[in-house]
Amino acid sequence: MALQVVSLADIGVEKEEMAEYMESLRTGVGNPARQICICGHGITRHHSNESNSYCNVAKSWCYCQEAFPVLEPEDLRPFTYTTSGVGKEHALAKGLFALNEMDKNARWLIKMACFKCLKEQCRLTLVSLSRELRVKKGPGFSNALLCDLCFLECGGY
Ligand SMILES: [Zn+2]
Ligand SMILES: [Zn+2]
Ligand SMILES: [Zn+2]
Repeated sequence: MALQVVSLADIGVEKEEMAEYMESLRTGVGNPARQICICGHGITRHHSNESNSYCNVAKSWCYCQEAFPVLEPEDLRPFTYTTSGVGKEHALAKGLFALNEMDKNARWLIKMACFKCLKEQCRLTLVSLSRELRVKKGPGFSNALLCDLCFLECGGY
């Protein structure tokens, strides 16, 4: 009996999609356990009990209330910094910088837009926010990318 030609299409899989997935297994990209939260730390670092939520990282304490995946890096190790302010002082920026220093890459999981007014194609600032949604200089309860206007509205400095 002659063998039939078998293709991925027979089982409903696109070849390109498959290649991307296999590559993601190799690099770790594409796996939720390897995603980074907007707070700058791994999703799996987030914990909660009855009274509060927090994110536990080696070098810092983070108050992040709700894990929100924004980034898939090739390597999770650099993402253990503490937020000490906005922009370059934010843990996510520090982690990204350290990742690039290792010659490794990442991809965004979100559309680049202001978290508050949803404006796109504008300058965005990475901030940490207090419970009252005011811009903080240290680790916040939540984190966001804000356009210039919203940044000012939230008490940005
Ligand atoms: Zn977080
Ligand atoms: Zn965190
Ligand atoms: Zn805005």
